[in-house]
Amino acid sequence: MKYDVVIIGAGPAGLSFARSLANTDLNVLIVEKSSKESLAYPAFDGRDIALTHLSVKLLNEIGAWPQISSNAISPIKEARVLDGTSSYFLHFDHKRVCHDALGYLVSNHLIRKALYENLDALSNIELSTDTSVMSVSNNNQGASVVLSNGETIDATLVVAADSRFSETRRKVGLSASMRDFGQVVIVCRMEHEKSHGNIAYECFHYGRTLAVLPLTGNQSSIVITAPTDRCNEILNLSEEKFNNDISHQFKHRLGKMKLIGERFPYPLVAVYADKFVSNRFALIGDAAVGMHPVTAHGFNLGLKGQNTLAREIKTALKRGVDIASPAVLESYHSIHRRASHPLYLATNGIVRLYNNNEMLSARLMRKTMLRLGNNIWPVKRAIMNQLTAIGH
Ligand SMILES: Cc1cc2nc3c(=O)[nH]c(=O)nc-3n(C[C@H](O)[C@H](O)[C@H](O)COP(=O)(O)OP(=O)(O)OC[C@H]3O[C@@H](n4cnc5c(N)ncnc54)[C@H](O)[C@@H]3O)c2cc1C
Repeated sequence: MKYDVVIIGAGPAGLSFARSLANTDLNVLIVEKSSKESLAYPAFDGRDIALTHLSVKLLNEIGAWPQISSNAISPIKEARVLDGTSSYFLHFDHKRVCHDALGYLVSNHLIRKALYENLDALSNIELSTDTSVMSVSNNNQGASVVLSNGETIDATLVVAADSRFSETRRKVGLSASMRDFGQVVIVCRMEHEKSHGNIAYECFHYGRTLAVLPLTGNQSSIVITAPTDRCNEILNLSEEKFNNDISHQFKHRLGKMKLIGERFPYPLVAVYADKFVSNRFALIGDAAVGMHPVTAHGFNLGLKGQNTLAREIKTALKRGVDIASPAVLESYHSIHRRASHPLYLATNGIVRLYNNNEMLSARLMRKTMLRLGNNIWPVKRAIMNQLTAIGH
């Protein structure tokens, strides 16, 4: 069997990319190891994704945004970043950039559901579920994948969207730098007495960090970052103790807070592939760039990257040239590297700085950074542009 494009992984990045190639002359196969049922009805996984304005535009272009009910979209009007026990905060306000919001929060499972919906109606896209890609061969002439059902599929281009721990990336021989922060992020939802006013908080406490992100009604998405050896302690706290702990950590700004549902842990490992492309092969999504969630850029960059690759492919199609030529793939690599590398380094730098609680110099630096951020308008504007700009 032969396809123009084989996509490995039907996560948010793989599905977005497939949709970006809808209505082209390319025949596309997505191979996903999990079941069709889990794609059609993804379970809530605790993640609420902060989307930039560009991401909303791109999700609209591929027909996924209209599938998300407006009740499930929460605007972030303001963002406040606090350090230690100080009440001083770095402040971002949507009014300064003349937009209705800085960004929008949507649950990850609803984004996945929206990306899967009506996929059947896209005539050039096929999906094979309950199937893993076991190996990939690639050279100048062509590429092929061997599936867990024993079939071999030939392709003009293979695109891996198989997570930050991508097996395919390793098998193809693309190196990546990985940073294991020795931490976990624990996410859950809580309801509270007072209104959040659509303000997102990032509190860099000493020892652990707490983000409180506004959902619809009096509910928030809670993101706790803590050293891995404290993970079980936080997960096993009784609901009452957990509620009291978070209300106290958050200084009762929202009154009493109450856990809704489960707490979900994720290991904190950031990944950056040294090269996003090889012969007739490309990495997208977390397989290319797996971000620490503190700056909420992972999926936003994933969407941007897949859009860049799809754009380069469509341009090649228009010109009648090979869609997987080195020139096409190199162009994707350099555009996406320019878009993602500074953010990746800055995010890891922020994590390093705000994880350092011991040294007085680091504590002073943390405070200085917030004040500089507040008072140097070009810096603040650059951060807000990252959230609200809709151009590439
Ligand atoms: C706590 C948390 C909060 C986050 N918050 C934000 C946020 O606010 N904003 C933001 O932009 N991003 C955020 N992110 C990041 C975002 O969730 C990820 O960037 C995004 O989910 C990555 O999507 P993906 O499709 O690249 O990978 P994944 O979602 O990991 O999907 C990979 C897919 O590949 C499949 N697969 C793997 N191997 C194979 C194989 N061999 N064969 C077939 N299929 C295979 C898997 O089954 C899976 O379906 C957050 C992440 C976390 C953990």
